[in-house]
Amino acid sequence: MPYDKKLNQSQIAQTNKYNVFRCLIREGPINRAAIAKRMDLSIPTVMAIVDDLFKKKIVRSMGKGEFGVGKQPEILEIEPGRFFYIGADIGRGTIRIVVNNAAGGQIACMQEPTGDPFPEREFIGHVQKLILQFVEQHHIDAACILGAGIAMPGLIERETGKVIIAPDFGWKDIPLQDWLQEGTPYPVLVKNSTQALAVNESYIPGVDDVHTTFCVNLGYGIGAAIITGEELYDGAGGISGELGHCVVDRDGPLCKCGNIGCLESVASGEAITRQAQTIIAHHGSSMMTELCGGNAANIDARMVFDAANAGDGPALKIINTAAMYIGMAISMAVNIVDPDRVVICGGLIRNGPYFFEQIKAGMEEHLVAKSNRTLILSAGVNDEYSTAKGASRVFINTLWAQRALPI
Ligand SMILES: [Zn+2]
Repeated sequence: MPYDKKLNQSQIAQTNKYNVFRCLIREGPINRAAIAKRMDLSIPTVMAIVDDLFKKKIVRSMGKGEFGVGKQPEILEIEPGRFFYIGADIGRGTIRIVVNNAAGGQIACMQEPTGDPFPEREFIGHVQKLILQFVEQHHIDAACILGAGIAMPGLIERETGKVIIAPDFGWKDIPLQDWLQEGTPYPVLVKNSTQALAVNESYIPGVDDVHTTFCVNLGYGIGAAIITGEELYDGAGGISGELGHCVVDRDGPLCKCGNIGCLESVASGEAITRQAQTIIAHHGSSMMTELCGGNAANIDARMVFDAANAGDGPALKIINTAAMYIGMAISMAVNIVDPDRVVICGGLIRNGPYFFEQIKAGMEEHLVAKSNRTLILSAGVNDEYSTAKGASRVFINTLWAQRALPI
């Protein structure tokens, strides 16, 4: 194939335009000279791109800067009402939705119970209706919506957005993306929940110097995801990060995936609840019995944490064992991936610092070459909309990678 210089220049021009736009989104409000410096472009190049973005009403002026001496540069920002994009987190029993404006600012959020995930087609139709209604309630023209990123727990086929298996939902081979797309007037992209959560974590201020983040999501199930540079590493088939289904106890319980003794079967929110139910059902002496009114069916993971935080022995034993297994599994991942940051997210970590500290101890106990690492272990942002926000960012990043943004 002959070398096509003209096409190459056109690609460079397009890349420059995307980089300027990205700089405006991630670092705006900002002036032209700062964009040029940040993106390593000439000032005339930035000026030409910004003029074009002005013509398309994608950028607006915020006036001149107020500080310093001499001529003040014009400050620019993305026109927030130019277009919007959606993120949705389909969780077990609850859907959370966010709508973002073009500048990445969240303009609305909502959550609502979704009920039983069966039959699958009806459930997905209900989810779609909730998203469409939410957008309508906020009087956003569907034509201004770029699309929606949808986060779903389980193994998601990257190319099709099909749910290969979602143990938390009892789903197998469900064409979620296709079903959501039917009747939705903008593009829909389905991604794994933990991958979405990890992408959101990579946007948290103050983590700029981190190259590789290993994100662990501890909730009803357990998942993980890797961010390297600014990119999600999702493996050859898009299904990396199944930390919850790594076997940690071959004599352990049967996991929903069909294996024996997966991390999820001994340390997830569901596993913690199940272990507490066994103690209560066998009339073990524990504060957990009081907290659930003597009815094992009423206990949940939060009550187990409440009892453990109050010093209840049986509850502490459950929590300590779960933390040890999680720490051990994280140490294996760290030994292989060698990240510079491990961030632990999810509902379980919102139950006070004790669990986090126990996980840290479990990880450090099993980690090789501790002294040679500059590993930061931290708790993630405790925001119940983190996954929905991450899903919206996965969507916009995908448009980005495909050079499909309307700029
Ligand atoms: Zn499993």
